[in-house]
Amino acid sequence: MSSIPCPSFIAGEWRSIAGGTPVFNPSTGDVIAECPAGGAEEVNAAVEAASAAFPAWRDTPVVERARVMFRYRQLVEENFDRICASVSREHGKTLVEARGSAFRGMENIEYACGAPSLLMGDTLENIARGVDCETMLQPLGVCAGITPFNFPAMVPLWMFPLALVCGNTFVLKPSEKVPLTSVILVELLEKAGLPQGVLNLVHGGREAVDTLLTHPKVRAISFVGSTPVARHIWETGTRHGKRVQANGGAKNYIVVMPDADVAKTVESLSTAAFGCAGERCMAGSTALAVGAAAERVLPSLIEAARAIKVGPTDRAAQPDMGPVITAPHRDRVLSLVASGESEGAKVIADGRGVRVPEAPGGFYVGATIVDQVQPSMTIAREEVFGPVLNVMRMDDLDAAIAQANASAYGNGAAIFTNSGKAAREFKHRVKAGMVGINVGVPATMAMFPFTGWDESFFGDLHIQGREGVQFFTQQKVVSTRWFGDGVGDVWKK
Ligand code: NAD
Repeated sequence: MSSIPCPSFIAGEWRSIAGGTPVFNPSTGDVIAECPAGGAEEVNAAVEAASAAFPAWRDTPVVERARVMFRYRQLVEENFDRICASVSREHGKTLVEARGSAFRGMENIEYACGAPSLLMGDTLENIARGVDCETMLQPLGVCAGITPFNFPAMVPLWMFPLALVCGNTFVLKPSEKVPLTSVILVELLEKAGLPQGVLNLVHGGREAVDTLLTHPKVRAISFVGSTPVARHIWETGTRHGKRVQANGGAKNYIVVMPDADVAKTVESLSTAAFGCAGERCMAGSTALAVGAAAERVLPSLIEAARAIKVGPTDRAAQPDMGPVITAPHRDRVLSLVASGESEGAKVIADGRGVRVPEAPGGFYVGATIVDQVQPSMTIAREEVFGPVLNVMRMDDLDAAIAQANASAYGNGAAIFTNSGKAAREFKHRVKAGMVGINVGVPATMAMFPFTGWDESFFGDLHIQGREGVQFFTQQKVVSTRWFGDGVGDVWKK
């Protein structure tokens, strides 16, 4: 199969560089493209292009900037199948998952179309005699986005549509594991009429990222990825005077109370743990089963896990779950399950031996449930990022909340119960930025901020929603007064 082109886009020109890191189709293990490592030279060129394009784009009326986004929204919808096929091919999501996540991304474009309202300031008349005051939201300049492998369409769309309608120019650096969907997203925005240099696309890894983090013309960095890299981005970016929002990893707990609806809870837990092969920062990776909840829920949950059909996502017949991203990642997931077992946990649904004869080179792990996990175990502490659900047995709700709150992370948490009192207690006390009540994956939509806490987020203003607008703008407060009647003035003869 011929290699899919993976060009950069700088100052309105597509550029190809030969060689780079292999991009796999994880369903088959085939190399489908090479992601070039553009490095400092390419990033510098992209930042210069974005910087040169900034004055004209900043002065483009906001309604015109929004109109580009309206056209973009239309083009993304028209090309939706192509985008989702790309997500499935380079990431391994099922088409249903690819469509769901790309749709979430498209909602960010829709949110950005509201820029004329989102960018309105406040005014207060007569703050002193004859003095009026107003706030204005103005763009920062060149902003950059660095994205992870697990949502090739959605996460880039969390960033550049909002940054651009706010009047900024942008440099996008997608994950080198899934760079191809970003090429399509950028190509469509070019077609929508975005002026040259306003959005630039570069490829690469650490060198490209560190060039962005230290470049004096980059004003803000939006990052999504693992916690160690998020911390590095935040520390380095802020040290170089940049505004930074850096989303990190997660370990999300789902409390199951003994009174929870069994069928609905099993369905939600299964989706939360095994959806997207567990490769999402809002995956429900640990069930905290309170009292009799384990006996009520586990038999059907084991049955549901065993029924999940694993297979390739790049063909018409779709499986329930696709592969994980790479062979080393699969091996890491398998070794974390093995570590749990050797530390005393019980594997009660074992996806380690899954076979996919129609795609023997793919990177597969079947749905796995590890019971009787203890807090000290490696599998309890580390983000697994695979289709593995830990189960921890809890005596009561207090113990479950204490366990969830002991996590270094603070992305999401959920409770399944029919008790309003238990849900209220949980919602009030749990230490997580996104909380679900009988909702297994409480990931927020475009109009709300994506509110990770603790080691799941470094910065002040989160991605999406009004916080996103604040992140991509700076406020100016103008106080105004006027003197005299004016020479030759006609309003008071
Ligand atoms: P990653 O941290 O390995 O990579 C993310 C980005 O950082 C990529 O573009 C990569 O090229 C770059 N990068 C990697 N190592 C770097 C380094 N040493 N220096 C500079 N840049 C570097 O993350 P990933 O494996 O692609 O994505 C999975 C992780 O992302 C998981 O931990 C997941 O929880 C997290 N994630 C978080 C959210 C959220 O909103 N909190 C959303 C999606 C994914």
